[in-house]
Amino acid sequence: MAPATRAECLAADAADPLAHVRARFHLDGARIYLDGNSLGPPAAGVQDALERVARDEWRGGLIGSWNQAGWLDQPFRLGDRIGTLVGAAPGQVAVTDSTSVNLFKLLAAALAWGRDSGRRRIATTRDNFPTDLYIAEGVAELGGGQVAEHLDATTAVLTLSHVDYRTGRMLDMPGRTQEAHAAGALVCWDLSHSAGAVPVELDAWDVDMAVGCTYKFLNCGPGAPAFLYVAERWQPLLANAVRGWFGHAEPFAFSPEFRPAAGIARFLSGTPGIIGLAGVAAALDAWEGVSINDVRKKSVAIAEMLMGRLDRLGLEVASPRSAAERGSQVSVRHPEGYGLSRALGERGVVTDFRPPDILRFGITPLYLRYADAWDAMDALESVLAAASHQDVRWRERARVP
Ligand SMILES: *Cc1c(COP(=O)(O)O)cnc(C)c1O
Repeated sequence: MAPATRAECLAADAADPLAHVRARFHLDGARIYLDGNSLGPPAAGVQDALERVARDEWRGGLIGSWNQAGWLDQPFRLGDRIGTLVGAAPGQVAVTDSTSVNLFKLLAAALAWGRDSGRRRIATTRDNFPTDLYIAEGVAELGGGQVAEHLDATTAVLTLSHVDYRTGRMLDMPGRTQEAHAAGALVCWDLSHSAGAVPVELDAWDVDMAVGCTYKFLNCGPGAPAFLYVAERWQPLLANAVRGWFGHAEPFAFSPEFRPAAGIARFLSGTPGIIGLAGVAAALDAWEGVSINDVRKKSVAIAEMLMGRLDRLGLEVASPRSAAERGSQVSVRHPEGYGLSRALGERGVVTDFRPPDILRFGITPLYLRYADAWDAMDALESVLAAASHQDVRWRERARVP
């Protein structure tokens, strides 16, 4: 049940099983932060962890830290921890590179796999996140394939974003995966707006491959290493197109011949970014004892409360009304969405804008309180009443909107 008054919001906060988790974050940059779907805030231990790794492991341990500080295993140790949040058993997730690069590696692997059976197409939708489209087109061009919008006997892989970044629309992952399999194709899901936001069961839903970023709902820091998932059954059958020495069976044998590592390690390329991984490790500590189901329940309640208030303000909700079809954000379609986002920012409420007309409210139950979301709607109401979103200052957009 969604709270319908500020008093009910305060009561919901008092009864919230996640209430204590908020203290695990530094939130001094904003009064109310509704942009954790774009860049999560730092967990309280992140800064110390970065300093400790730089001081004790890098400066203190120097080259010896590769062995002594466990640097080599970090991409897999952290991958297994992310795996617990997306329903993947150990040994199938690695934290490495960026989402874009990981998608390139996996789509190229799928296209190479499909070549023998005449499968040369990557299926996706035109409304996918732009980097996913660019990567798919680039991979297709290199591999003599094509990008198409439909599934058929020529499809090697279907790639989709689970949650749409504009509207928050969430696709039926098990259903779409089954459709791809029925057509004989693999699937590669982009979980950038799902990991840490909604329950995902990669193993149980029979997903083949997935990628996702760690700096949104996982709060791992700007440009933090991303993750990739390859189901165990596919690992021996797929080849990494960016085959570097860290994907070799014995990187430190320095052999001129490439022999892929067994397991998920073959999908690494070069030297892991140890400093970035230290941030990932400390950020994931904030998930200790947190149930993704509690996160989801609170997210849905806040979303329903937000939509109720947006309706009363006469604004157009661009997100699906049904929770089953919505991720962890509520979007508004408004011709002056950019001005609304900026005017809210001046009132201490951080949101963002996506062209041409989408204002996004990201819902991050680890640190967002019901009363915060309520107060954000009060701020929106006063922005509209004062027409502050029409200020001439918002005619020119910042480089990052
Ligand atoms: C945020 C996001 C990305 C980010 O890709 P990077 O390579 O980390 O910049 C990719 N795909 C989707 C769907 C995203 O939402």
